Amino acid sequence: MSAHTGESVFDWIDTRAEARAKAGLSRRVRPRPADSTDLDLASNDYLGLARDKRVTGAAAAASLRWGAGSTGSRLVTGSIELHTELEYELANFCGAQSALVFSSGYAANLGVLTALSGPGTAIVADQHIHASLIDGTRLSKADVVVAGHCDVPQVARALSTRGKRRALVVTDSVFSVDGDLAPLAELAAACREHDSALIVDDAHGLGVIGEGGRGAVHAAGLAKSPDVVTTLTLSKSLGAQGGAVLGPGRVIRHLVDTARTFIFDTGLAPSSTAAALAALKVLREEPDRPARALGVAQDLAFRLKDRGLRVSTPTAAVVSIQAPSAEAAFGWAEACRAQGVVVGCFRPPSVPDQVSRLRLTARADLTEADVERAVRVISETGASAGAVSRPR
Ligand code: PMP
Repeated sequence: MSAHTGESVFDWIDTRAEARAKAGLSRRVRPRPADSTDLDLASNDYLGLARDKRVTGAAAAASLRWGAGSTGSRLVTGSIELHTELEYELANFCGAQSALVFSSGYAANLGVLTALSGPGTAIVADQHIHASLIDGTRLSKADVVVAGHCDVPQVARALSTRGKRRALVVTDSVFSVDGDLAPLAELAAACREHDSALIVDDAHGLGVIGEGGRGAVHAAGLAKSPDVVTTLTLSKSLGAQGGAVLGPGRVIRHLVDTARTFIFDTGLAPSSTAAALAALKVLREEPDRPARALGVAQDLAFRLKDRGLRVSTPTAAVVSIQAPSAEAAFGWAEACRAQGVVVGCFRPPSVPDQVSRLRLTARADLTEADVERAVRVISETGASAGAVSRPR
């Protein structure tokens, strides 16, 4: 007999797994075949660059030259010329003063929030921010005020009543679930008025929004603002892997000295760094790709709405469709997959309002025939899932 009376971790795991299964919330890891012919509307490869030969070729060449891994943290042996080049190019492309490359967008968000705030400081965060920003606010041990979605007056009120505390406002530029845009100019004005910093996660804006895909922060005229700090992922429109922070030189220098996810993490792999650099070059040479991705998103949304589905209005490459329940969303996504159309399925806890959705990502390289097939499959299977709000 066991000497202890406390609950077993493993029994607790089994109970939780059962409850998730009952609520239709079990998740499963499914390897993607290299030669799949499915129509992909679930990845974040907005510009179709993840398999572009110029990008994959640069990654392979960098691996051969520098090695498969970066071999250490950025402050020891893990920095190579390619990182410096990528930092210069990212800052230059997005119009920022300075940049710092991290091993992922997640690490960049944790690094910025913990380095710029802490116990006794205030963070005012939009209700719909990405999980990595939420985790950053928790890790920072700052006092967190969760403001209503895109509610600028509430943000301003929280800033004006914060007393003597240092304050950050945190938002996504394009919210990952519905693809809607944050009121960046208004938030920046509130921050300026209240002597606070605005942290913007432009993960879904880079490569899609603004002139040539320079991102939502650039489009809002805030790229060189002294009180705005932008975080990026290299894993969506750039088709690579990694993350970055853009901002004033003094912020970047502060991160080099104090951001724990920069200091204690292994530097970004040479292949990913080179891939991101090559993708940025393609983006400069082919500046119409972002508009194509956006156009495909708008076309998809328009046609799906026309079929009676509850569809978001895309301002970036993300289109989401509401499902009646978590189970219905799962069954719907599976039915699409059975017909060769892969869509994302967002269920709690990945949806801030608990409404489950199918989430589609548009890509610049989708053809008219692809869009037509997607609309047909999603709307036909949606009818069986009970997601169509009005018959056609
Ligand atoms: N921020 C947002 C808004 C994201 O969607 C993601 C990726 N899911 C991240 C940050 C994390 O980026 P990465 O995948 O590079 O860690």
